[in-house]
Amino acid sequence: MEERGLSEEEVLSLLEEKKRKDLKYERIFSSMCSYPHKIAVKAHMKFLEANLGDSGIFAGTKEMEDECIEMIARLFHAENAHGYISTGGTESNIQAIRAFRNLKRKEWRGSPKEGEKMNIVVPASAHFSFDKIADILDIEVRKADLDDELRVDLSDVEALIDRNTIGLVGIAGTTEFGQIDPIRELGDIALRNDIFLHVDAAFGGFVIPFLEKKYDFDFAVEGVSSLAADPHKMLTATIPAGCILFRERRFLESLAVETPYLTTKTQFSLTGTRSGAAVAATFSLLKFLGREGMRRIVRECMRLTEMLVERCKTFGVHPVIEPVMNVVALNVPHAEGVSEALKRRGWITSVTREPKALRLVIMPHITESILSEFLEDLKAVLA
Ligand SMILES: *Cc1c(COP(=O)(O)O)cnc(C)c1O
Repeated sequence: MEERGLSEEEVLSLLEEKKRKDLKYERIFSSMCSYPHKIAVKAHMKFLEANLGDSGIFAGTKEMEDECIEMIARLFHAENAHGYISTGGTESNIQAIRAFRNLKRKEWRGSPKEGEKMNIVVPASAHFSFDKIADILDIEVRKADLDDELRVDLSDVEALIDRNTIGLVGIAGTTEFGQIDPIRELGDIALRNDIFLHVDAAFGGFVIPFLEKKYDFDFAVEGVSSLAADPHKMLTATIPAGCILFRERRFLESLAVETPYLTTKTQFSLTGTRSGAAVAATFSLLKFLGREGMRRIVRECMRLTEMLVERCKTFGVHPVIEPVMNVVALNVPHAEGVSEALKRRGWITSVTREPKALRLVIMPHITESILSEFLEDLKAVLA
């Protein structure tokens, strides 16, 4: 920081210069975020100063958060869920597993034994946030194998459960392949073993309810204890907006810390000061789009996803699995090299870990003409 500040024009021109270095979403196939919706931007701008870390001061913003939780809970078939708007899937996942640990710690009193750790069983396809969880919470994260369709293998899940297992994780919309784990079956396993089940629907949460095909993945499944769904992904809210929901109040209570000197007595969130603006954005989208609006957005993303797959098949490229949602992994030889070559043509794609494939997410910023242009380049790169 210099002694004397710059003029407003100077600062704005610096910002322009930096902005030019950022890529535009129109050529991005690797991200699960997109441009925020117009109404979300308006809502966000109105609540820039609102801090939900001290929600007594911002009663209206807090009301919006409570109403978001109600609306999202109903979308996921819970009459009455308990949660808050988090910073995203990572925080939601951390908080779910932290609540499982806190509740089991109380229940188990003293277990696990000296030198042993509590553990959770997650699919091998789990998002890397679970590696952070292992580190932060000092919990062992056991990774269960996947089947041929890249869903978690239920017999491997059962084999990994032991007396120190506190919970399972199922993914509804895997980050790499967009696959949905068998949540109902995982729920049965959780109930039989008296452990919790967290559903990571960070991406799929705002896709699956609006697909033509129906899936059991939410609180309609009895064994599901908690669910994460990110408004800043397919709902196109402003960043940072995640949502963590628990079936019962006691999960949230287990996260409470006392907050002396604030307007509220306790706090459940992982972060302290947190954005009311992103809550306003989420609220405005839930109200503005309605289920019908979301169905329209998801339908268009799926139409383009199917078009992409069909066109790829005409030049001999097939998806690793038939896309369940708007995430496609294409079986191409030397996926990393293809991704690099596409980058030289201005396209950002990514590559999955196992099996290796070219990964594309068809977000709302992708249009039919962008997709056609991309397909021409993909074909040329592969030739
Ligand atoms: C995106 C994603 C996350 C992480 O969410 P952030 O908002 O980036 O923290 C977690 N799980 C899944 C399945 C995801 O797709």
